[in-house]
Amino acid sequence: MSDFRDLAGRSIIIGGGLAGLMTALELAPEPVVLLSAAPLGAEASSALAQGGLAACIGSDDSPALHIADTLAAGDGLCDEAVVRRIVEAAPAAIDRLRRLGVAFDLMPNGEPSLGLEAAHSRRRIVHAAGAATGSALMRALVAAVRRTPSVTVIEGFEARRLLLEGGAIAGVLAAGMSGAIVLATSRVVLATGGVGGLFHQSTNPLGCFGQGLALAARAGAELADLEFVQFHPTALDSAARPMRLISEAVRGEGAILIDETGRRFLADMPGAELGTRDAVARGVYRHLARGHRVFLDARACLGTNFATRFPAIAGYCHEAGINPAVDPIPVRPAAHYHMGGIAVDAEGRSSVAGLWACGEVASTGLHGANRLASNSLTEAVVMASWVAKSVSSAAIRPVGPALPIEMPNRPDPIVVRNIVSPALGVLRDGDRLRDAASTLWPLASGTDACADPAAVGLMMAISALGRMESRGAHCRADYPTRSAVARRSTLTLDAASKIAAELDLKPLARSA
Ligand SMILES: Cc1cc2nc3c(=O)[nH]c(=O)nc-3n(C[C@H](O)[C@H](O)[C@H](O)COP(=O)(O)OP(=O)(O)OC[C@H]3O[C@@H](n4cnc5c(N)ncnc54)[C@H](O)[C@@H]3O)c2cc1C
Repeated sequence: MSDFRDLAGRSIIIGGGLAGLMTALELAPEPVVLLSAAPLGAEASSALAQGGLAACIGSDDSPALHIADTLAAGDGLCDEAVVRRIVEAAPAAIDRLRRLGVAFDLMPNGEPSLGLEAAHSRRRIVHAAGAATGSALMRALVAAVRRTPSVTVIEGFEARRLLLEGGAIAGVLAAGMSGAIVLATSRVVLATGGVGGLFHQSTNPLGCFGQGLALAARAGAELADLEFVQFHPTALDSAARPMRLISEAVRGEGAILIDETGRRFLADMPGAELGTRDAVARGVYRHLARGHRVFLDARACLGTNFATRFPAIAGYCHEAGINPAVDPIPVRPAAHYHMGGIAVDAEGRSSVAGLWACGEVASTGLHGANRLASNSLTEAVVMASWVAKSVSSAAIRPVGPALPIEMPNRPDPIVVRNIVSPALGVLRDGDRLRDAASTLWPLASGTDACADPAAVGLMMAISALGRMESRGAHCRADYPTRSAVARRSTLTLDAASKIAAELDLKPLARSA
């Protein structure tokens, strides 16, 4: 096991997506270590983003309107003070990205070209390279990190455990092809992204399966709103993984959802195909569950213009042997974004001393029960600057030499996917959630490769079980209505294990 003593004491940022890159850049010139399982820019949801970043910079827009749209999408569960603070900081975050070299798409007058997305009352989506915002963003920021001498990048190493001393962060244990490393530090920022990889059907890179949540939970951190997973209604139904996204913009152009008989089955739903993301996902899911196939039909509205208007999406379709000009596109819902995460305060501090979280892995309170499209990239950029300020002003605690601890197995979510996908999908019910929690609990307490993904799945199942209502993206067949009082949920791994232990005892007690 190598001990990187010359890096001892530096803050360690885990994750090479937008949140990790921005935190490293915001901390400059303070020396930091950026640890990434994949090469920078790869295996990150950030690189796949199509739409862009929401910021109220249009002449007809205002923070008040952006706040109202965010609160409406969040279905009563957003933290309004957090929403206000992030929304108000968004325009400056766009300027910051521009200064770092991100070339946003501009109108002929030099002003940013602003896109309109579902549930936004104004055009406020700043984008780059058309619908390839994520790759343009990551290209510029990876280059910025590589030319910043204060950032030591360690690629190909996966954080496996956070080391603790007296309950506070003391280091990171990581593993890569060349062996194990121990990095001693009293300050760690988790920026490891979402949980889509815990589901068979997801738009996230397969490596995004909640590793940061497991690291934080095993260190004793409090997690929040874990039950809220946003499903995108129209992922391309093909063998490709991650699943390719057929953006809402295609429906915005007039594409309709039909089944194998040609019937437009969502025509009577409020907003029809342009209803809220969760409602459309449920409509598509229910139709598939009844044995139908579902297609997005852009033949009449776009036809031969499809490839010009949506070149990347046309490319995905062609990979799957579909020509969207003449064929309806097969689609199904896919896990897309995790609203829940590590509970953090306004500066990204978790409940564990020395541990911060930024980006999708964090739960700031911005998204509530449902994320407003394009608010997540904005949140990552805005929060990164506040996290960086908080990290650099935190006192550096001397940490002792790392005690030898056993290297956990390389986490593998395959077994857990089979349990999480049916139980925590678009439509949930108590029986399936209880079964899932009972199956996941022993796995989470073991040492097999599935232990960490099982711990994350367990906490999500327990949170979903405890939320006896349907709100935002969380829909319970046995509790179809919304409770009068909205409350956020918080959970630790210990508490989840205790609840699971009690669930396990109940059938025994009944049969006694
Ligand atoms: C297809 C798609 C389209 C999207 N479009 C938009 C959009 O238009 N606008 C918007 O706002 N949001 C969009 N989102 C959501 C948004 O992209 C993500 O929420 C955001 O990019 C998350 O950034 P992040 O830095 O937190 O995580 P990521 O970008 O996922 O990066 C996580 C990083 O952590 C690394 N990592 C994970 N575990 C470990 C470990 N144990 N050790 C070391 N490294 C680790 C991963 O390799 C990866 O580099 C989209 C998401 C997807 C999947």
